[in-house]
Amino acid sequence: MKTAVRWTDDHFIAGDLALDFANTVFRRLPEVGADLLDSGAALIGWYVHAGLLASADGAARRSAAGQLAAARLLRDRLWAVLEAQRSGAELPAEALAGLLASAQAGPGRDLVVAADGTVTPRTVTGAGAAIALRAVGLALSPPVRPVRSCDRCGWYFLDTSRGRRRRWCSMKTCGNQAKVARFREARG
Ligand SMILES: [Zn+2]
Repeated sequence: MKTAVRWTDDHFIAGDLALDFANTVFRRLPEVGADLLDSGAALIGWYVHAGLLASADGAARRSAAGQLAAARLLRDRLWAVLEAQRSGAELPAEALAGLLASAQAGPGRDLVVAADGTVTPRTVTGAGAAIALRAVGLALSPPVRPVRSCDRCGWYFLDTSRGRRRRWCSMKTCGNQAKVARFREARG
């Protein structure tokens, strides 16, 4: 049996959980790399690391495998909407409608929203709905810091750098590789 990916803070570099969820592939560019959401356990683990679920309890584990396809579909829709936001295009209607449908599935049994807007999922479905709610919020009230994507791997992030010139998902990975590549080029 293969073990689920170990999520670390390096997987949560985007500055927004909806974007972090979009980044659950090894890379998005130049072609989509290995899918890190490759099992129900990986999905639950992500929700727990993200703070959306308190723990990977038995009920969560049992329902997770069945939620995997829905989670990936949610991610596809996120990609479509984020790509439009990033490039300044009109948001694709079908993807946005899909996000709204996922968000709508949450409130009630699966998720509660506090007066201050804090969203607390109670189930795996609720955790997915929480991501969809964030994505809808991001789509309708775009942050001052623009949605950008890494020049090398295509992971999304909010550019909170001072000069708004952030190019990499992380200096530790892509930023460093770019530096090494430039160094090699310079040495011919
Ligand atoms: Zn990157």
